Amino acid sequence: MPAPPRNDSSLTQYEMRIGGVGSAAISGMTLDVTCPSDGTVFGTIPRGATGDVDRAVAAARKVFDDGSWRGLSDLDRGRTMMAFGSVLMEHQEELAALEARDVGKTLTLAKADVVALARYFEFYGSAIDKFAGENIPTATGFMALTFHEPHGVVAAILPWNYPAQMFGRVAAPALAVGNSLVVKPAEDACLSILRIAELAEQHGFPPGLINIVTGTGLEAGSPLAAHPGTDFVTFTGSPEVGTEIQKLAASHRVGCTLELGGKSPHVVFADADLDAAVPVIMKAIIANSGQTCVAGSRVLVQRAIADQLSALLAEQFKALVVGPHWGAFDMGALISEKQKNRVQTMIDRAKEQGVPVLGQGAVSTDAPSTGFFVSPILFGPASRDSDIATKEVFGPVLTLLIFEDEADAITLANSTDYGLSAAVWTRDIGRALRLSRALQCGQVFVNAYGAGGGVEFPFGGVKQSGHGREKGLQALREFSAVKTVIIAHG
Ligand code: NAP
Ligand code: MG
Repeated sequence: MPAPPRNDSSLTQYEMRIGGVGSAAISGMTLDVTCPSDGTVFGTIPRGATGDVDRAVAAARKVFDDGSWRGLSDLDRGRTMMAFGSVLMEHQEELAALEARDVGKTLTLAKADVVALARYFEFYGSAIDKFAGENIPTATGFMALTFHEPHGVVAAILPWNYPAQMFGRVAAPALAVGNSLVVKPAEDACLSILRIAELAEQHGFPPGLINIVTGTGLEAGSPLAAHPGTDFVTFTGSPEVGTEIQKLAASHRVGCTLELGGKSPHVVFADADLDAAVPVIMKAIIANSGQTCVAGSRVLVQRAIADQLSALLAEQFKALVVGPHWGAFDMGALISEKQKNRVQTMIDRAKEQGVPVLGQGAVSTDAPSTGFFVSPILFGPASRDSDIATKEVFGPVLTLLIFEDEADAITLANSTDYGLSAAVWTRDIGRALRLSRALQCGQVFVNAYGAGGGVEFPFGGVKQSGHGREKGLQALREFSAVKTVIIAHG
């Protein structure tokens, strides 16, 4: 049985956003909001379910049908979105503080995430009036044109690792083309998204355009993906739930995109510039405590420099300090006790299996013992078929593996079920280009990782990392459908 609502007045009672107003769940039920840095419960969110999803989808449909958003010119929609980017930056401190407390990430990272969130609105707001259709050459006396039509009501089921950024990544392109939205954030990461939606209502987005239903995956996410009133589903999270989402979308025959994580490699050749590579490799695994779909969680190194790179990375790992989001630490807590236990179990199992530990960081003595902290760890060299070398950990764990030559590097890089992102480190341009084509994934960096702004690059997976592309101009195509108009003009 669900727990009854808490009446503790010290807890902030957050509300969902449906039809432009704050709302409790129809049931009155709530879920606790926990701070990962110290394990304290500081608020509640509504425990939404089918009836709440129905209300949200109806509100989104109403706005879609009345044309108050999609009926605007691309220029006017775009202007509202670009202006909202500035609004978000004005609220950077507030949003970052809310998100850091909710999910445990460092304040520095939370602030950077708000910059990325704002950039999504600026990027798509400024792109939409250049998103032209085609004029297709055809038979004499005919003219053929294409238009990018919005799907209608887009359902978005989001993960907990980058709530504000993920909201921007999905909402900005979907809204730019004229869709309405119903978002189901992860139950552990709702607060920044609720506030962003409220700000949007106050800054030119029609009430009911952006609806946020909070609740569990099964009770709120599942009825949303299955809802016949939704026209497209986007999901980011685990492969297991992704499979369910695709089935639910298929139950009412709509499209979906799935972004399901990875085991992304850095492929480091003997001629690589290690001074450049090491800090980038570190950042790619410690950012957000490794809870990143594109975490660079494998480092594949050519045998000739394996000892040298191992030593350099080990030194870095040993210096890492983990602590609460309010301090100046390299990493914050993991999202929940469940994730902490899951990650720690994978670490313990790798140790039991005899995978060598090259270096490990420490949890600060200032960190509350009730927080969800895990010490970052570098394993290696690991055997190629070990779990720690092939399974996604979603925590601060880097696994080093050794390869012999270029062909072996490609085989090893492509040897997991995943295919999201990769980096190639070499001074040989020919080799860099050959690997860029041979690596099975959606993004390849050469002598870099996670570089550039990120928002402008199409992004998504192959193999078990999912399908569909978000980010970049490609997302505008994903969140719209081409309509072809053929005119006989004589
Ligand atoms: P998850 O269960 O896949 O959750 C992702 C989202 O789906 C959340 O909003 C979740 O809601 C919702 N959900 C869960 N079950 C659902 C269902 N049956 N129907 C509809 N929606 C459902 O992921 P997780 O358990 O939080 O994390 C597990 C693993 O997923 C991680 O360890 C990591 O490997 C992977 N992951 C990947 C990414 C990524 O960026 N690719 C992000 C997060 C997690 P609730 O959380 O509220 O239940
Ligand atoms: Mg929380």
